[in-house]
Amino acid sequence: MADPQTKQIGKYKVEVIREKCISAASCVAIAPKVFDLDEEQLAIILSQDGNDDDTKLLAAQSCPTMAIIVTNTETGEQVWPVE
Ligand code: SF4
Repeated sequence: MADPQTKQIGKYKVEVIREKCISAASCVAIAPKVFDLDEEQLAIILSQDGNDDDTKLLAAQSCPTMAIIVTNTETGEQVWPVE
């Protein structure tokens, strides 16, 4: 059986706009296998596949400054923030 931690599990790609990050770390709390804070206390992406799509979207929606952009890699559409 495939290891759920390592297999490709989603189609959403997340990006962090570091200029907008205020180190609130709610993204890290919700999706700790996707997001982490670096030495500047700004969010970085650890892995696109650490958590599933729903968790990645929740993490993005939790960001108080909307610093996380979620894109559907199958359709190319921006999923969050909603334009
Ligand atoms: S939730 Fe937003 S502001 Fe907080 S660490 Fe993550 S990207 Fe930065």
